[in-house]
Amino acid sequence: MNFASQFRAQIYTIYYFKKTDFRIINEKINTTDLKNNKVYFSKAINHWYSINKRNLPWRLSTDPYIIWLSEIILQQTRVEQGMSYFNKFSTKYPSVTDLALASEDEVLKDWEGLGYYSRARNMLATAKYISSELNGNFPSTYKEIIKLKGVGSYTAAAISSFAYNEKQAVVDGNVYRVLSRFFGISTPIDSTEGKKEFQLLANELIDNQIPSQHNQAMMEFGALQCTPKKTACEICPLKLECFAFNKGFINDLPYKSKKIKQTKRYFTYLIVRDPENLLIQKRPDKGIWANLYEFPLLESNSAQEQNELINDKNWLKTVLNDNIIVNHISDTHKHILSHQQLFARFIEIHVDAIAKISDNQLIINQQDISKYALPKLLINYLSERDDLLYLLNDN
Ligand code: SF4
Repeated sequence: MNFASQFRAQIYTIYYFKKTDFRIINEKINTTDLKNNKVYFSKAINHWYSINKRNLPWRLSTDPYIIWLSEIILQQTRVEQGMSYFNKFSTKYPSVTDLALASEDEVLKDWEGLGYYSRARNMLATAKYISSELNGNFPSTYKEIIKLKGVGSYTAAAISSFAYNEKQAVVDGNVYRVLSRFFGISTPIDSTEGKKEFQLLANELIDNQIPSQHNQAMMEFGALQCTPKKTACEICPLKLECFAFNKGFINDLPYKSKKIKQTKRYFTYLIVRDPENLLIQKRPDKGIWANLYEFPLLESNSAQEQNELINDKNWLKTVLNDNIIVNHISDTHKHILSHQQLFARFIEIHVDAIAKISDNQLIINQQDISKYALPKLLINYLSERDDLLYLLNDN
């Protein structure tokens, strides 16, 4: 029996969580208590928000374009990290038409370091669509906004409520956490059933008069108060009625059923320079870091294969066809993406004059590398090597 049906049956059931196994301890409370709990929850959250909300620049605007920019940038990204990107994009591209005029390389460069690059590509595609098909007018209802590329139910609810005060409840990672802990809901948030159940509850809780503020309050509460770790329950205004706090389930909720399976990949990058130039290549338009730039790459199937490759220098001479000097071979740099773990090593090589190894490569002046969008793994590596740091400086 799921939470919604229990709720309809006026029974409040508390789940006892044990690893992936649930046992049920029945504790019935009456409907009045549950309704009171919801009223109490909404009032407390909105009151907390009025005192604790941060002054964030996108909250000063009801322009749907500005709100959309902030929401796309903040997906999977902390506010502290996203702030400089929001400032950069909203200044450089003050309207959706300005953004639509940019090239993909330009937008990827502006997005460099933020990760999940499909967001930037979808954002540009959407800007071009709005500019050419909708005369630059951002859609004004949830139903229209959700049709845009890269916009899901959460983002559509956020834009329509923040820009137009439409009554659409947002459910993001913060909201899942707050609701699951406070109401004691153990339905997996990565299941279809869980998504429906949490959305239903969020819809019931949203304030009719101030949907925009209510949504902001829910998200802010999850971001600042009901945090994933080191949760400050002792100073929480909801603690007296909070299921997770009172039953000791804070670290168990929200619950996910699937473990993300991460594949391991072994990358060996060749940083090939001659006195003036550098060799780079564009990544394919599918897979990780699509259409970004990188150094020539050799991928191995295991750490052992990668070590064998690096220890056998003969192939370098064969591939580069030149008098090469190997300046440095790095240790392994581990880089974690959502579904992949990368184990990267870098071989820094000097040659007399660079020649391309394959057709998709570019020979560029070393000073021009800062014009190309690179994955964060490469930026991190360049910034930690004194010999290479100059490549990152704008010239
Ligand atoms: S008491 Fe703790 S777990 Fe419960 S809502 Fe407050 S911060 Fe979250």
